[in-house]
Amino acid sequence: MITIADFKKEVLDWAEEIGVYPKEIHVRKMSRKWASCSSKGRLTFSYELLTRPKEERAIVIVHELLHLKYPSHNKFFNALLSAYLAKKGIAKTKQPFMVPLVSMIVPLKS
Ligand SMILES: [Zn+2]
Repeated sequence: MITIADFKKEVLDWAEEIGVYPKEIHVRKMSRKWASCSSKGRLTFSYELLTRPKEERAIVIVHELLHLKYPSHNKFFNALLSAYLAKKGIAKTKQPFMVPLVSMIVPLKS
């Protein structure tokens, strides 16, 4: 379990890597998804994510940050997600937990 402050730092580090600028980062209880991204650039992450391993956090963080640039889940989006994770040695497809995890990520605006 990491602190909210450390988690926000992780998000900001990834944001710098990707070159996006989230306006606000919130952590709160979310019952049905891991994170969401508003069209205004506000990211909200599930408090539950703070209890997950770093690799899992990274997958959710990078996914949401990419939405600041690319709203839809197309091939290009998925390729970028894989590429950024691979740079840090994280293979998103090799992690069984990702199947339910990814299906739980639903953007506020589709
Ligand atoms: Zn998404």
